[in-house]
Amino acid sequence: MSAADLDLKVLKIGGSVLRDDLAIAKVAGHLRTRIERGERLVVVVSALEGTTEKLIERARALHSAPDPGAFAVLLATGEMRSAALLGLASGEAGIDARVLTVEQLGIEACGEPLSADPVGLSTSELREAVAACPLVIVPGFAAVGSDGDLRLLGRGGSDMTAVFVAAQLGACDCVLVKDVDGWFVEDPRAVTRPRRYETLSWRDAINHPAPIVQDRAVDLSERLGQSFVVAALDSEGGTVVGDVETQVVVESPAKSRLGGGVEGASSRFGRASDELAVASRLVHPPTVPGEPAGASSTPIYQTATFAVTPGGVADGDWDYSRNGNPTRDVLERQLAVLDGATRSFAYGSGMAAVNAALSLVPAGGQLVVGSDLYGGTMRLLETLARERNLEIRWVDTSCLAEVETVLGEGASLIWLETPSNPRLVASDISEIGRLARQTSTLLAVDNSLLSPVTQRPLDVGADIAIQSATKLLGGHSDLTAGVVSVRDGELAERLAFRQNAEGTALAPFDCWLLLRGLATLQVRVERQIENADEIRRILLRHPLVERVSSVPRCPVVTFEMVDADTARRFAERAQLFRTTVSFGGVASSVNLPCDMSHASVPQAWRDVQDLSPAMVRLSVGIEDIGDLRVDLERALDQCRRARTEVA
Ligand code: PLP
Repeated sequence: MSAADLDLKVLKIGGSVLRDDLAIAKVAGHLRTRIERGERLVVVVSALEGTTEKLIERARALHSAPDPGAFAVLLATGEMRSAALLGLASGEAGIDARVLTVEQLGIEACGEPLSADPVGLSTSELREAVAACPLVIVPGFAAVGSDGDLRLLGRGGSDMTAVFVAAQLGACDCVLVKDVDGWFVEDPRAVTRPRRYETLSWRDAINHPAPIVQDRAVDLSERLGQSFVVAALDSEGGTVVGDVETQVVVESPAKSRLGGGVEGASSRFGRASDELAVASRLVHPPTVPGEPAGASSTPIYQTATFAVTPGGVADGDWDYSRNGNPTRDVLERQLAVLDGATRSFAYGSGMAAVNAALSLVPAGGQLVVGSDLYGGTMRLLETLARERNLEIRWVDTSCLAEVETVLGEGASLIWLETPSNPRLVASDISEIGRLARQTSTLLAVDNSLLSPVTQRPLDVGADIAIQSATKLLGGHSDLTAGVVSVRDGELAERLAFRQNAEGTALAPFDCWLLLRGLATLQVRVERQIENADEIRRILLRHPLVERVSSVPRCPVVTFEMVDADTARRFAERAQLFRTTVSFGGVASSVNLPCDMSHASVPQAWRDVQDLSPAMVRLSVGIEDIGDLRVDLERALDQCRRARTEVA
């Protein structure tokens, strides 16, 4: 019998749906029900989150591949593990299931770029498997290039695989079961008030104004003439298409490993906490599984090691704090929600985060860098350039034409701050992102001056978002920390590897401090912005103040005074605005960039960049605005009197 004669359906299951053993078992139960109804299924799975050594072991037990090298690559990917585990659970549910590897699936990348002529499928093994077995499970992430290397298809890659497989097999149905119920938007986890769609054909999707990350799947479905619908699984494991009210993500409150923050929080709200607005989610972090006391505050797991069996297998999900710690896991999940990322990584300082992101550039590689930058980043870049033979092209990233000229000359990364420190120069992330994509250049944005409350670089085209969490995220000037957030799975794997290999992750107590800071981020920032607006108005009116720079919704205001002496005097006289390096805290502060934050920037560069010693950078806190106004006006007045006396 040919595949086309069968009642063949293709189902794509999102990785977070398969978030733990219980959820996987539920999905297997759902598959069994469908098979008992006489359906034949090809299930395409995407990456399971929170992968662990234990999962690798289980996948290894399930698959013995002839070529250990190729198998190692497969094992390194979450999708294959998802496929292996679902195969295991299906076997346990009494289903005769077959799991195919990528090679067996025979998906090949036909050309570059993938989106131009995305994939080819040698269907022979797949057809055989489908004819022989009621359930075939395949990883939905990769193609094999003409060089034999595995290529990740990126976000939406598993949707694309599903559409492709469905079209090639002539399946009568293709259902994409999303990680989050029925959402078909840029990043379901990133959207705080998502739109929901009951069913969505590719044509609806194409015509819909929401940004669609599965656009390659849509594009492919158009070319292949295979439509699909988007669905969710309800808590009983049934597929739900259309009944918005009853759509919920499969969840298992007791056991899942911080699965998107569902457990604990879900029992309180009766809903997955991923569905909360970001501000609510920040006050209700996920609970560490197995936490016995119902602690309201995330416990600080101040431990280096966790119990393992004599064979070295962890009892739980953690074995050594360098490669994972429950407090850090909660924090990194919260950061990912905040940044709209698939994964975020917490480091010991903003500079450690900057360094982690820059480590993605290979030795001898080329970088395009925005020329107005925090002095420490500039110092690090110049050191790396010397030591790792990096070529840096400095450009004014606020000028798109300049960016366009240098992109395409071989840079692997473009790095910018927007707004920049200290001059608050804004660059257009989405336009630069568009240019970067055309030239396969990664775009990294240091967002420290704004915070994700105001700007989420990943939403508008950046590949990598960086924050000095010492600033607004922590907010209390009581820790140094940094964050790197990404959406792309491969970038995440590389960052995860280095965070562990180099041991740069944030320590548990500091993770806790940062979690506490995050809980009030939104209210703090809103108040800071409000105060900063008033401070800006006062500065604009004052005769000793020249060139006030500001960007909307930024708690930092930079201005130049009539001369350097006046700027220093102002810093001395202000009291509530204490002179400190850094910015973003609840307490207002004043910084003289040339003497402090940018002291390491060479004079020649300061001249080019117009970094004047008369420049003052204010960070506006949450104090009563009346007090701030009095402090500012008094300090300015004293400067004016001092100048009059000298004259
Ligand atoms: N990025 C920017 C824009 C900064 O202003 C800073 C510090 O001021 C950093 C990164 C480095 O952060 P940290 O001081 O937390 O290492």
